Amino acid sequence: MAEVQILDYRKPEVEEPSNQQEVDHRSQLVSALGFSPQFQCVDEVSLDASRYYEELTGRDLDLWMLFHRSFYEKSKGEWEQYHFDRVPTQVLEDISFADQLGVFDELEIWTPERRSEIDPMAVGVVGERTVTAQIDWAHWGSNTCHSGNARFFPIVRWGESLMSIEELTDQLVPRRIQISPYLPGLIPQGVLSFVRSIISNTPRARVFLDKAGVFAKHCGERASRLEIRTRGFASPADKTVTVCAVCGENRDNW
Ligand SMILES: [Zn+2]
Repeated sequence: MAEVQILDYRKPEVEEPSNQQEVDHRSQLVSALGFSPQFQCVDEVSLDASRYYEELTGRDLDLWMLFHRSFYEKSKGEWEQYHFDRVPTQVLEDISFADQLGVFDELEIWTPERRSEIDPMAVGVVGERTVTAQIDWAHWGSNTCHSGNARFFPIVRWGESLMSIEELTDQLVPRRIQISPYLPGLIPQGVLSFVRSIISNTPRARVFLDKAGVFAKHCGERASRLEIRTRGFASPADKTVTVCAVCGENRDNW
């Protein structure tokens, strides 16, 4: 069995706020007098998760959520059901450190839920996830189906591969394509590269691959039509592109 690799996301040097002495002094007074530190301590900087970890946002957040289809919430006792691997001791320590910081509203374990791809990640959450019911869960996975004010901070990732964001994108591309039954099953390399350029900018896009009109030919083959939808399964296509079925070149450039 290959060795498990660990990637700790904690920022190497946490800079102290400039008024640290005053903050410490106040917090001693607050606790000595029996006030609640939660209501009386003014050290807001130390309560900010971004002081310790980098927030995951935008495209990268979408990519990771599409890869890690499921999440397990600590506060709901769901970690008891986590059975995909034996979590390394160092990872348990990293998660425990994040827990005792008191900066997160929730701690989650994200997983691809496929035994062949064990590459889980522990994530700190600030704010609250609101699950949206309007999304096709079966397709997207529960992790992706969130709205609300939640912010996500990766704490630690472990596994045998620890894929880069590029490798992750490569893995996702074939899954984001739906092929018309009228086309042979194999997606030409050129078309895959074209779709990859879309997915790496808009991970939530879904691409429907179909035959193009009979007159569109390039490289001696009938071209393919790509419908690119970013709003959901049943939504009309945002964009229709005709690409060469062999080399994947956009017809606009022929
Ligand atoms: Zn071509």
